[in-house]
Amino acid sequence: MSNIILTGDRPTGNLHLGHFIGSIKNRVKLQNEGNYDEMYVMIADAQGLTDNFDNPKKIREYVKEVAIDYLSAGIDPKKVNIFIQSEVSELTELTFYYMNLVTVSRLQRNPTVKSEIKQKDFNTSLPVGFMCYPISQAADITAFKANIIPVGDDQLPMIEQTNEIVRSFNRIYGDTLVEAKAILPEKEIQRRLPGLDGNNKMSKSLGNCIYLCDDSETVKKKVMSMYTDPNHIKIEDPGNIEGNMVFTYLDAFSTDELISKYSDFNTLNEMKEKYSSGGLGDVTIKKVLYNIIEEILTPIREKRKYYEDNIDEVYEILKQGTNKAKQKASQTLKEVKHAIMIDYFN
Ligand code: ATP
Ligand code: MG
Repeated sequence: MSNIILTGDRPTGNLHLGHFIGSIKNRVKLQNEGNYDEMYVMIADAQGLTDNFDNPKKIREYVKEVAIDYLSAGIDPKKVNIFIQSEVSELTELTFYYMNLVTVSRLQRNPTVKSEIKQKDFNTSLPVGFMCYPISQAADITAFKANIIPVGDDQLPMIEQTNEIVRSFNRIYGDTLVEAKAILPEKEIQRRLPGLDGNNKMSKSLGNCIYLCDDSETVKKKVMSMYTDPNHIKIEDPGNIEGNMVFTYLDAFSTDELISKYSDFNTLNEMKEKYSSGGLGDVTIKKVLYNIIEEILTPIREKRKYYEDNIDEVYEILKQGTNKAKQKASQTLKEVKHAIMIDYFN
């Protein structure tokens, strides 16, 4: 069996540190290891419209922005096909046929969709398109016969739904589609990075993010205003690690090497012990975190400048990636239509 990697992001804002640690880092690692046959990264504009249908300008703008974020963060267009979802109309067609294989109650049970409906206050005005986005995600994955999906843990219910569709389809119409497997980051905390406001997920829609394109000054301000331990008033006071966002982020982003580079400690554990027993100030720990985030963001920012000045190149990359994606998806659609016996003129 061949190894085909696929992931995507909604163009609903710039990419943030949650994307970086939850998915992009793994994508770049897989891309550079080269153990795959094809790799696709999708800008999910059609999905973005399901809850932003009244703001098409925003989606259009962020298609460009997300493409720049990818290229700046190290996605290499020579190795990866970056494409725009809506340009591959085969995906919409596949979605329509898959809709028959999923019940309304199954969609209503999806925990990620459930919490997003709540978050968006959709309780009385839920668009059908939004409700169905897990089905469209199944189309996105199966169109490419993708079997490796590097994602954060909010996407696990989508992969599960995809595999249920694959099994139903293959059982009813014959072996055609391939099941997919999620690749999660190593550490628990990296699978769902909390927001700066302490919300359980950093998310574009919640605006509680450090963005990959934030400048140094903005990052500093955001880190300096992070929630620590409200009872840790004097430096000598013992401080709490639990629920302390600075330590949560250090858990996600630091390595022993970075800790010894930017602090007086050799490991994060040593630093935590000192904070717990008293004698380590909030400003000091925030400076360590700021420096570590800056180490990640500085090279990304530099590359970003290049692509901002060469937008035509960005669109050319998207065009080529989209053509490749279209070829592959149309092959799968042919097989799907053949399996469903709706290929009348062949
Ligand atoms: P939106 O609020 O519009 O849904 P988002 O911030 O949730 O945006 P998505 O485009 O939905 O971002 O997610 C793209 C990918 O990034 C998915 O694989 C998702 O699991 C991952 N991801 C998003 N937020 C986080 C996070 N806070 N921690 C880890 N991974 C994340
Ligand atoms: Mg999301």
